[in-house]
Amino acid sequence: MPDATSFRPDAGSSPLPDEVLDALVSVLDDVRHGRSRSRSELVARTGLGRAIVARRVQELIDRGLVVEDEVGPSTGGRPPRQLTFRADAGHVLVADLGATSIGVAVTDLGGRILGHYTEPSAIEHGPEVILGRVEELFQDLQRTTRSIPGPVWGVGLGVPGPVEFASGRPVSPPIMPGWDGYPIRERFAARFGAPVWVDNDVNVLALGEWRSGIAQGHDNVVVVKIGTGIGAGIISDGRLHRGAQGSAGDVGHIQVVDDASVICRCGNVGCLEALAGGAAIGRHGEAAALEGRSPRLRAALDERGALSAEDVARAAAFGDPVAVDLLQSAGRRVGHMLASVVNFFNPSLIIIGGGVAQSGDQLLASIRETVYRRSLPLSTRDLLIQRSSLGLHGGVLGASALVVDQLFTRDAIERWLPAGLPAGMPDLARA
Ligand SMILES: [Zn+2]
Repeated sequence: MPDATSFRPDAGSSPLPDEVLDALVSVLDDVRHGRSRSRSELVARTGLGRAIVARRVQELIDRGLVVEDEVGPSTGGRPPRQLTFRADAGHVLVADLGATSIGVAVTDLGGRILGHYTEPSAIEHGPEVILGRVEELFQDLQRTTRSIPGPVWGVGLGVPGPVEFASGRPVSPPIMPGWDGYPIRERFAARFGAPVWVDNDVNVLALGEWRSGIAQGHDNVVVVKIGTGIGAGIISDGRLHRGAQGSAGDVGHIQVVDDASVICRCGNVGCLEALAGGAAIGRHGEAAALEGRSPRLRAALDERGALSAEDVARAAAFGDPVAVDLLQSAGRRVGHMLASVVNFFNPSLIIIGGGVAQSGDQLLASIRETVYRRSLPLSTRDLLIQRSSLGLHGGVLGASALVVDQLFTRDAIERWLPAGLPAGMPDLARA
């Protein structure tokens, strides 16, 4: 098993010329994403000359970032050599903070989960309690996971609220009291000596689906997360689109009714989330139970004292007509919003994720039916609408993809390559 000592930080200590760096980044990107597995494929795909490809590949091999195996299918004669990214050059620590849970994982640089742990929690306990616990869990993972490769190259966190991506700080998060402006990056950078990136949970989920889920190969994707609230992550022309202030995709607060009685936690009235989010579905289920419209929901309410959207979905799965109606109605509202998004943005794939979407078919069916009926035919001709493929691992896989993508941007590589590796460079995450 290769470890940190197989690195060759002395492979080059002076800044690289622009054209060398450009070629290096494009070769590494192609190998890292599995698009090219040989020098000749790299020549064909990158448009670089054969000699340049050969030199850059050799440099990446010398630096311990790419390995050459002789395990390709033999066609007789010399066995073909396969180039692969050295995902075991280091590891990444990631956390997926939800409103009611903490998930942590350690992954290799290729997004493979090596150790994973989840526990119930409450984000409203505030940053000192929650992040202190995440630090403990990270250290537990580092201690207990077998054969963690290399040093820690980076730390990634997804949080259930808006984040200013450049600084890694939450910005007025509605369900995260005490977190506004909290220096999450500085805290973890000081503790783990590695660069740290923080993003909102929906962007993180979108990155996870794009790098290791069903969005692979799609350049224009909308990932909608229906949890307690509703949000969307957007992949536009092959990049995660965060917007000018990092708040792109905040579709839960689009106004969908003009009704003063529909009050949203954001302070406005008539928001989509206040009608069709998980909290709203649970609340509507409770009302139906109390009004005697659904004996099954009434029984669930009596048993648990409150109803969640998952309880409603469970009742719907048993055919409870009131529960089915609640999910269909929420699905139609989300579908109307998405039909506008489809006409405006023209994605090739919409992914529906989050706890509510995982727990039943009615919601997804109703969203699909509404989007196809309400969007322009040209926009929906090749449009796929699918359920999230990553399940409970979506958040940590996305946080891992976030870190690795940031480590391998041209700017980041330019800064860490002369030093050999990004471990021990916590400032790398600062723009
Ligand atoms: Zn709102």
